[in-house]
Amino acid sequence: MNFSLIFTPMKIQSPTFVASASSVTQCPKSDLPEYAFIGRSNVGKSSLINMLTGRKKLAKISSTPGKTRLINHFNIDGKWLLADLPGYGYAKVSKKQRDSFAVMIEQYATVRENLVCFLVLIDSRIPPQQIDLDFIEWLGDSKLPFVLVYTKIDKVSQKEKSQTITQMHKELSEYWDEMPLMLETSAIKGTGREEILNFIEKTNSKMSQ
Ligand code: GDP
Repeated sequence: MNFSLIFTPMKIQSPTFVASASSVTQCPKSDLPEYAFIGRSNVGKSSLINMLTGRKKLAKISSTPGKTRLINHFNIDGKWLLADLPGYGYAKVSKKQRDSFAVMIEQYATVRENLVCFLVLIDSRIPPQQIDLDFIEWLGDSKLPFVLVYTKIDKVSQKEKSQTITQMHKELSEYWDEMPLMLETSAIKGTGREEILNFIEKTNSKMSQ
């Protein structure tokens, strides 16, 4: 038996930047399954995308931090699309900007037909933040599939990690009977790369059956 065929993790060969869009209507048309990465500003989203794709600067390619809030699309080996959504909860933006961000995400989530799943990034160093919990609740109410991705796991001890996760469980169990899939990642150590890519690959293959 050739075990390498069974255990070889999915590798990304050629991730390419597709386009930046300031609204869902500007997003590139595609039938490819799409996975949307989202989280608070500074959660480690760009670092995670670069770690997953093995490209040091991919996620920063077209972003203009603090200015335009754009949805950036990346084509992953012609198999799926990665949508890099703007970070939420940036302290320096006005209420008006926050509201327009919420509208943008809501429209994206409801109109984007090829969207398969959100990957909601959570900083494992800090307790669950209200803005994260609100967003997760909104996803649940809107029946939008999501997984939680803890970032910067290299920065926390085992004890801190289980405290954060227990706290998140506690918060979520007030609303939900079932817990979402939770994955742990470190952009620095490469932790969680296989788990995320395997999750995406499995989801894609289930859809094509
Ligand atoms: P973004 O605003 O969500 O795109 O966050 P960035 O990817 O720019 O990361 C924000 C900060 O967190 C940067 O200083 C990164 O170096 C740091 N960072 C991101 N991911 C990790 C990680 O896995 N481990 C550690 N230790 N630091 C990280």
